[in-house]
Amino acid sequence: MRGALLAAAACGAAVTVAARRVAGFRPPEVTPEPADLDGLDADSAAQRLAELVRIPTVSSKDPAEVDAAAFERFRERLAELYPQTHRVLEREVLGDGALLYRWAGGSGAPPMVLMAHYDVVPVAGQDWSRDPFSGLIEDGVVHGRGAIDDKGALVAVLEAVESLVAAGFTPARDVYLSFGNDEEVFGVGAQLAVEALTARGVRPWAVLDEGGAVVSGVFPGVPGATAVIGLAEKGLLDVELVTRDPGGHASAPVRGGAPARLARAILRIEDHPFPARLHDVVLGMVDALGRHAPTGYRAVFAHAQYVRPVLALLLSRASREANALVRTTVAITQLEGSKARNVLATRARAHANIRIALGETVQSTVDRLRRIIDDPSVELDVVAGNDPSPVSRADNEAFALLTAAVRSVYPDAAVAPYVMVQASDARHFSQICDSVYRFMPFDLTREELATLHAADERISVAALHRGAGFYRHLIRHL
Ligand SMILES: [Zn+2]
Repeated sequence: MRGALLAAAACGAAVTVAARRVAGFRPPEVTPEPADLDGLDADSAAQRLAELVRIPTVSSKDPAEVDAAAFERFRERLAELYPQTHRVLEREVLGDGALLYRWAGGSGAPPMVLMAHYDVVPVAGQDWSRDPFSGLIEDGVVHGRGAIDDKGALVAVLEAVESLVAAGFTPARDVYLSFGNDEEVFGVGAQLAVEALTARGVRPWAVLDEGGAVVSGVFPGVPGATAVIGLAEKGLLDVELVTRDPGGHASAPVRGGAPARLARAILRIEDHPFPARLHDVVLGMVDALGRHAPTGYRAVFAHAQYVRPVLALLLSRASREANALVRTTVAITQLEGSKARNVLATRARAHANIRIALGETVQSTVDRLRRIIDDPSVELDVVAGNDPSPVSRADNEAFALLTAAVRSVYPDAAVAPYVMVQASDARHFSQICDSVYRFMPFDLTREELATLHAADERISVAALHRGAGFYRHLIRHL
């Protein structure tokens, strides 16, 4: 009897603690500083972006396919479109066309680096409703390849810098602009910028590159706008799975030939997904966004740290984007067998494009794949791979400044850290800076977000304008 009473009392106390936790699990009370859009003109910014979209700086791994003249024209046009910036900032061209600018600040404090890239992915095979390189502006929207990724960000940065230089402003610390020319093909442009800074003994205070955006209805249970700032990015690994056979005439096949063994390997990978885990960064995201959810959801999110496995499982089932946040993913992207219809394959090949979750490595991923496939006749050849990036902090001045800059132009958005599931040039900067962030200051609809690397890429003039306001706030408060 006494035991039952004690248990009931303990249970009651636990419920009270839990209820208090849920009640206190609210968004922080903040009064955002009003947006600073002085000297920024939305329509002329849109026109400058449209002009730059018209220059087809399509990158390719094959140098013969790169239109070097277009890249050169882009750099020249930048100088004409942003004369004040090019008058005051030092500019250098690295390698095949990476741009590095230095805006001397009013102190010797470590600099801020703002990144973007001006190469774009091809449009071949995509069904565009408008010419991807016309730079058409229609109903308040700029259309074309690169409108978001990443000429949009590049223009927003330059609009902010140009307006501040024109007003005679000097930043409190040096500001570097690092604009890559080969991000989309995993080139060396950003690496050259890192080497140039390293050679001069420069260690940035913070680095900001493309990444999360301001989107609505993506996080389960949070209806409003969310601005997610990447603290890290997943690793990238390309592996070829290869099986071999003696071959022969297709009229006398063998059981368990190279294609069959390859198919078995692929199905085993599909049937044995990597474990779903809630990394600390994703826990931070759940904590920040969960506070904006309705009561029922908040009761769960408030206890996220105690129910990590359950939440990881829930997220992995919520959507394919959420799934990518909690585990290493494997996509089979290419398949190849015999070259002829009536010849047995001597070699069958599948390409696996893998995104490695934080906490795992290239080596641990390859080891696990081997165990999953469990067939010594399937070779695993690593084509290229890099481990996940280090994790930047979310409790420092740099992150607080980014948050304030977001709130100045998106006062209603919930700001949260997250893990970028794609690769970006920012990863190179982890060598010289431990505050590397990934965020694109544009509010995008789900449809607009889906046009990245796809048909009908476009950005609203209003989002571009707010993006420039974000960078202006950032630079003014360094
Ligand atoms: Zn990009």
